[in-house]
Amino acid sequence: MEKYEKLKKIGEGSFGKAILVKSKEDGHQYVIKEIGISRMSSRERQESRKEVAVLANMSHPNIVQYKESFEEAGCLYIVMDYCEGGDLFRKINSQRGGPFPEEQVLDWFVQICLALKHVHDRKILHRDIKSQNIFLTKHGAVQLGDFGIARVLNSTVELARTCIGTPYYLSPEICENKPYNNKSDIWALGCVLYEMCTLKHAFEAGNMKNLVLKIIRGSYPPVSLHYSQDLRSLLGLLFRRNPRERPSVGTVLQKPFLSCRIHKFLSPQIIAQEFSPAFLHKQPPGGVAPGLPAAKRPAQASTLLSPAQKITKPAAKYGVPLAARRVSEGARRPRVAAAPPQRRVSHAEDERKKHEDAVRKKRAELLEKERKHKEQVLLLKAGQVKSYEREKMNRINQAREQGWKHVLGASGGGSPERKGFGKRAGGAGPGAGPSLCIGPAPCPEQAPPSAIVPAHGRAAYDHYHTNLSREGVFLLLSGRSPPKTQTPSGRKS
Ligand code: ADP
Ligand code: MG
Repeated sequence: MEKYEKLKKIGEGSFGKAILVKSKEDGHQYVIKEIGISRMSSRERQESRKEVAVLANMSHPNIVQYKESFEEAGCLYIVMDYCEGGDLFRKINSQRGGPFPEEQVLDWFVQICLALKHVHDRKILHRDIKSQNIFLTKHGAVQLGDFGIARVLNSTVELARTCIGTPYYLSPEICENKPYNNKSDIWALGCVLYEMCTLKHAFEAGNMKNLVLKIIRGSYPPVSLHYSQDLRSLLGLLFRRNPRERPSVGTVLQKPFLSCRIHKFLSPQIIAQEFSPAFLHKQPPGGVAPGLPAAKRPAQASTLLSPAQKITKPAAKYGVPLAARRVSEGARRPRVAAAPPQRRVSHAEDERKKHEDAVRKKRAELLEKERKHKEQVLLLKAGQVKSYEREKMNRINQAREQGWKHVLGASGGGSPERKGFGKRAGGAGPGAGPSLCIGPAPCPEQAPPSAIVPAHGRAAYDHYHTNLSREGVFLLLSGRSPPKTQTPSGRKS
């Protein structure tokens, strides 16, 4: 850290601090993310280091450039370029004079897609796409930041982070406790596109329960007809409730109204690299073809796929890994070949044939035995994975329940953190669930459903974003007081 001079803390995310620094070596400004790793096990720390190495290899004009990382006093520090233009969230908030022109929205969106394609092509999930993680450079280019950082964290922290992170971008599958996958990033991409068009969140509500309901239903206010049919129908695709029906980022970029813009942001050389089919061959074992949706990826990639990604693999769909299927196919083949030819043969030849048949039969039996054994091992493993997943889900649910309890317990009080959250409802109506009332809008119990969502406008967007994500959900799911943070708009939250 002695290489850098601390200028100011620019924010505190759910995983640590973001500090603006000046390098004593080159005089440039950088942002350092400080992540506490002292509570991680040595294996988890090792994994974090591996993930940082992955980040270090990322280089793309639309991705915030990683500089270096180091460990000091129980913290992992990740140094990256400072984006002077601020983040998209702030840009949206400070937009005056109506929505952004479609040209502007599409230019930004294409750049975000190019960044996400680069990440997905390398089988990395972003996991935290939101307008606060999309930055503008001083030249007006868009850069995606914080990708992969969620993966740097160990699973427990990551789990907590998923719970305490900004909830507006949660996809239906995450709301239903299903695993995160590349299409969950696509959902969040849709949320960002929607925000750019309307200056509002696609899904918002006065409390977490209603928010989740809206997300699961996939119901969002329509986008203005001033935007083209192409853009509006793309939103419909990105917001498909079934992740399998959402397009991959490669498919999105193939849409003519988007692909015609790519050359504005990438040099022909980089376009060739990013879209070349040869990329597949340059990848290490387990690499994927650019633009291919997960379902079309080659089978050998399976070992490197996270369980979440595996759900999109056709073989995994049937619960049978490809390797096991191949064994069973192999086992079947000799049986077919074992059928004796229908012709007259001499006695010696007959004997030889019989012997060969017996050998083939034996081999087929052995293969069949081996297949059954492997199947049993796989079943056993699947069982173990299932019970591990069940245990994990129990832990999540317990944590969530504790969070809800905490909210219910704390909501009546006037703790300093909760001041300014709006009034708490007098009592929950039937089926209303925990009544966490955040923001200026009255609670569902006090007002008709239409009033749950604040009047659509920038102030409401800003207010809700800041409060619900940083305070409400933090309290809701972590059971702890939120850290005092500086919002991007400079207000203390
Ligand atoms: P989170 O993304 O969870 O809100 P972060 O710690 O990533 O929290 O960021 C906190 C704030 O710091 C962000 O809202 C953003 O405005 C700012 N920030 C983060 N990284 C950069 C960067 N590379 N350049 C400029 N600002 C940044
Ligand atoms: Mg961030």
